[in-house]
Amino acid sequence: MSNDDGLTKCAPFHENTRNTAALALDLLENIPGHVWSMDPAGRFIYRNRSMDAYFGVGLCDHGAWLERVHRDDQRYVAASWRESMEAGQPFDNAHRLRGVDGEFRWFRASGRPTRDPRGHVAGWHGQTIDIEHQKRAEESLRARSLELSLLVDMVPSNLWRLTPDGTTTLVNKRMADYLGLDLSNVSDVASVMDTIFHPDDADAVFAELTRCLATGERFSMRYRLLRADGMYRWMSGRAEPMRDQDGNIVQWFGLCHDIEDQVQTTAALRRSAEKLAQATQAANLSQLSASIAHEVNQPLAAIATDTDACLRWLSADPPNIERGKLAAERITQDIVAAAEVISRIRALFKHQPQARTVEDVNRLVHEVLDLMSDEIAATTTRIDMNLDPRLPKVSLDRVQVQQVLVNLIRNGIQAMDATNPLRSLKIMSNCERPGTIRISVEDVGSGFKDPERVFEPFFTTKSNGMGMGLPICRSIVEAHGGRLWVTNNDAFGATVAFTLPVA
Ligand code: ADP
Repeated sequence: MSNDDGLTKCAPFHENTRNTAALALDLLENIPGHVWSMDPAGRFIYRNRSMDAYFGVGLCDHGAWLERVHRDDQRYVAASWRESMEAGQPFDNAHRLRGVDGEFRWFRASGRPTRDPRGHVAGWHGQTIDIEHQKRAEESLRARSLELSLLVDMVPSNLWRLTPDGTTTLVNKRMADYLGLDLSNVSDVASVMDTIFHPDDADAVFAELTRCLATGERFSMRYRLLRADGMYRWMSGRAEPMRDQDGNIVQWFGLCHDIEDQVQTTAALRRSAEKLAQATQAANLSQLSASIAHEVNQPLAAIATDTDACLRWLSADPPNIERGKLAAERITQDIVAAAEVISRIRALFKHQPQARTVEDVNRLVHEVLDLMSDEIAATTTRIDMNLDPRLPKVSLDRVQVQQVLVNLIRNGIQAMDATNPLRSLKIMSNCERPGTIRISVEDVGSGFKDPERVFEPFFTTKSNGMGMGLPICRSIVEAHGGRLWVTNNDAFGATVAFTLPVA
């Protein structure tokens, strides 16, 4: 039936009751779900087509339904049915049902009673909706969230989460264990966060955090945290805001990890670098050479004057032997004075108090490489190491031996032309023979042009060289009872090696 504007017009209900009943039946039969009706005793009086197709026609009453319910769900389904039947109340629950094909799928079954005019339950109408996909999606979501929380706990770092206003809402298990917090009580966790920073760092941490929360900038700081055992340890902490699509911060995620050992190692390295600098300063070569020159110059000048005088007295006519002899005696005294100056300087080197400790030389090599890491990186030098892990420990003055290693490595680097693409240095350690270890630094540089002279004090081929490095290295090694020597390699480059006695 169409009206003037061409729209279909529904006939009034009473005019069309018969049509409506047919339509309703058609609807129930073809609806993509299971629809049913039961009498008050729980016997099916109607099941639509798709319900029969799924369960087969054998599903005739409430008892048969229960048989189709998965064993794990049967108890609560039966209980909820019973309760609803007794109370005449609607029911609604999810459970697994076996189809005619023998497979179980998840369904949500809901039903409600119909009542006669006196209010007695006259029957039940209901529907059963297939929720298998939804259940699977829920299951995989649950599995993913479990996996995620496992991941959060397994991350080898301390992880925390803050609200945009800075309230802690999560710390992972690792962090809770680290701080000794009870994870079951998040509000406790939030309140404890205020007390875990070192008193000297807390203000700075909170000020920076407040600033980052206000500006949305990344938080990155080092601070000390109170570990569960009551020790404050240095941590490196970072936090990043997480934003929604509109750019609003919804939460902050932070990571912090313990850098106490690293901080201690760096401090130790810095201390040893300072010591090294002091030792180098003690041997400040320009000062030393100036003072040597100054001290030796005086007897040399006197020798020159006395030699002139001696020559003059002897070449006089007649020669004045007496005065010539006196001048020659003064020359001898001047020579003795010069020798004394030299031996005083040598004594200065030799009698420096030595702080000997038993050390692993391989470790010293690593420490020196750490100290020189900038220099090595700047010159793009590759370091190959072949250090004997069974190297016995040696009693030595670590600062002095470090100084030797620094000198040899630096010389090696400088000997390799900057344009040489093969800038590589090989550092080796081994047991030369029982009771002696051998360390060598091998480069692929220019090689020694004059290997005989390199141990002469002040011999240098560098424009800014002092020529005291190798003599000092040799004197240090010899003072330890070892030997230091240089060789040119067969192909190219040079090797400087030294030995140290183990005893
Ligand atoms: P400096 O480095 O101040 O010159 P050194 O005593 O350490 O003083 O070295 C003396 C000289 O020995 C250097 O000027 C250089 O000619 C030579 N030399 C040192 N090490 C090497 C090396 N690995 N390869 C080639 N020549 C070297």
